[in-house]
Amino acid sequence: AAGAAPDYLAGLNPEQRLAVETTEGPVLVLAGAGTGKTRVLTTRIAHILATGRAYPSQILAVTFTNKAAREMKTRIGLLVGEAVEGMPWLGTFHSIGVKILRRHAELVGLKSNFTILDTDDQIRLIKQLIQAENLDDKRWPARTFANLMDGWKNKGLTPEKIPEGDARAFANGRGRELYRAYQDRLVQLNAADFGDLLLHPIRILSEHKDILADYHRRFRYILVDEYQDTNVAQYLWLRLLAQRPKTERSTLPGDTTQGRTAVAPDGTPPRSEPLGGGGGSEVNVCCVGDDDQSIYGWRGAEVDNILRFEKDFPGAAVVRLERNYRSTAHILGAAGHLIAHNEDRLGKTLFTEKSDPEDEKVTVTAAWDSEEEARAVGEEIEQLQRKGHLLNDMAILVRASFQMREFEDRFVTLGLNYRVIGGPRFYERLEIRDAMAYLRCICQPADDLAFERIVNTPKRGLGDAAIRLLHDFARARGIPLLAAAAELVTTDELKPKPRAALAEVVANFTRWSDQLSTMRHTDLAEMVLDESGYTGMWQNDRSAEAPGRLENLKELVRSMDEYESLPSFLEHVALVMDAEHAEELDAVSIMTLHSAKGLEFETVFLPGWEEGLFPHQRSLDEGGRSGLEEERRLAYVGLTRGKKRVKLWFVSNRRIHGLWQSTIPSRFLDELPEEHVDVIEASSSYGGYGARGFGDYGASRWDQNAFSASSYQTPGWRRAQAASGGAHASHKDRTVSYDENGATGQNLRARRPDA
Ligand code: ATP
Ligand code: MG
Repeated sequence: AAGAAPDYLAGLNPEQRLAVETTEGPVLVLAGAGTGKTRVLTTRIAHILATGRAYPSQILAVTFTNKAAREMKTRIGLLVGEAVEGMPWLGTFHSIGVKILRRHAELVGLKSNFTILDTDDQIRLIKQLIQAENLDDKRWPARTFANLMDGWKNKGLTPEKIPEGDARAFANGRGRELYRAYQDRLVQLNAADFGDLLLHPIRILSEHKDILADYHRRFRYILVDEYQDTNVAQYLWLRLLAQRPKTERSTLPGDTTQGRTAVAPDGTPPRSEPLGGGGGSEVNVCCVGDDDQSIYGWRGAEVDNILRFEKDFPGAAVVRLERNYRSTAHILGAAGHLIAHNEDRLGKTLFTEKSDPEDEKVTVTAAWDSEEEARAVGEEIEQLQRKGHLLNDMAILVRASFQMREFEDRFVTLGLNYRVIGGPRFYERLEIRDAMAYLRCICQPADDLAFERIVNTPKRGLGDAAIRLLHDFARARGIPLLAAAAELVTTDELKPKPRAALAEVVANFTRWSDQLSTMRHTDLAEMVLDESGYTGMWQNDRSAEAPGRLENLKELVRSMDEYESLPSFLEHVALVMDAEHAEELDAVSIMTLHSAKGLEFETVFLPGWEEGLFPHQRSLDEGGRSGLEEERRLAYVGLTRGKKRVKLWFVSNRRIHGLWQSTIPSRFLDELPEEHVDVIEASSSYGGYGARGFGDYGASRWDQNAFSASSYQTPGWRRAQAASGGAHASHKDRTVSYDENGATGQNLRARRPDA
């Protein structure tokens, strides 16, 4: 339709508009941070809906997190109103995968109500298999195998397909066998792990052409955000859905299941053929990404997917966006200069028209130790708050999650609201996992892992011998544990006391399962926790944590209320593993750099820019140059989250497992351009030796132009370091390495000056 562009298009620049309006055929948007890639996706969906090109149910849109999916839905809603209702296929790879799998579960030997295993269940299961094979699980740890298998699944490899070398890598060549045994066991348990949520659908779609054709008819538009972080399995899945074979005629219009004709607001009916017309091989797939933000290589993501796109979808329109709408010129300048140190990049330009003499430069501040760092950051936050800034607009992005605790402690002391995103997760707490196990058993009586977890929790006098007997009994009959228990208690194989205890468990579960359809699920959950003695167990517990655990259990039941049934709640918990509390409260966000992808904040604090922590020692050890480059991309992601101000910190000393350790400022600090960065002079309010020492020496560093790529100069950071903390090791001498939960290190220098 001719005439003025609809409102939602009005604000876009010409390239963005091109990406939105090129609805037919493959489109790849390759552009730097903050250039509006996500906005393009959202507007594109709005455009497709508003022009009647498809029903909401015919659009498949993949986001990186559930949170991003929700935000996208809200934004589309703002653009097109209730046309967004539906959009059942907007979500993460996992959430869409699970949906497809539920519809065809029987094709891979599962029932549609299969359980989704979490890592904990997975590890326990693998351990059992390793032991059953008479392998030493100390020598061949379950966790190692879980990682190995995860890698295979990320590559889309079923047991038959893993390379010989890989198969030999574990347990004297029994890797393949174990992988197969694991998959068989999952089928018995009617369960799938996270990798299966993609792997099974890939198998189903490749083996059943009719089903694939059905999805081809269904999904007329496919959109993917954060495309640079897709792994091979995700790519294969996507390609199956997006690439229609030439022989397959697309039968348009319309979703026959809806029994009505789509009519756009302006009355145009849906097009009867895609613009390309003819062959029915149109692929309306649009991927947006940024190679500089690829940060999941360690989990199997492949930047090569970007290059592969143009090959697999010939004739793809490639759109580049160069204007950044998010950040100030200082932030962009700092980020651009840093990322230019990477060799492995496609390269692109970024500019902003946001340039105000008032703009703050990126700051770098030194602190004596992490406690002082947290104190100083807390102070800055309070200052901003006094000037009227919202806490919601501030974020602290850390490299490793152990860094969070210091900030949390400080904020509790200050009474500053904060929320941890993607961190120590509510649903991973012990009492929550136990409670969930009860609920899982009720919905899914074949869920042996859940049953094992709670059969003797609280203690019911079911010892190891009784449990082993139950296991044998179940295995001999090939039935789930709960069903086996029901039979076992009718025999006299168990001693009277455990038999009575087990009989009670069986009777309880029978009764609870019966009540599943009649009782409100929140009431049922509360009742189960009471009648099982689980709540009582914590009420009688004298430990300091017990009250908190009881509160958590209450919170669990409360949170279930938002779901219409127990199964839908269980699925939610299995999928949504990023805790998102206190959404409505004004609070500072604390999260890892990895979970900050795609987000933006007025003010961003980036603490802990020290060698070994950032870049992370593990990436350097395992990844070499590419490991370092991935760390640098992570730094780029961090910097580009900021809209108005970005504040970097490093400490001179870090306490690791209670021992003091002197540190070296991150090499990334040396890679920032002087013109966009301010070194904060020692401030009396911080009072740290580090800050003072740095102030003295840092200034001279900038004067001497240590920033030019002349790396043979002793960078100012090192000298500042030397002044503040005495003699220090150089990069090469450093042998410290950090792990996920904290840090482990040798080369420790234990000395706390103010203690
Ligand atoms: P990232 O790579 O970090 O995911 P992105 O490319 O997805 O970034 P968006 O989040 O879509 O970028 O956009 C960044 C910011 O710029 C958002 O606040 C968005 O609303 C704004 N923006 C994007 N395009 C425009 C535009 N044409 N006019 C005004 N603001 C825009
Ligand atoms: Mg984005």
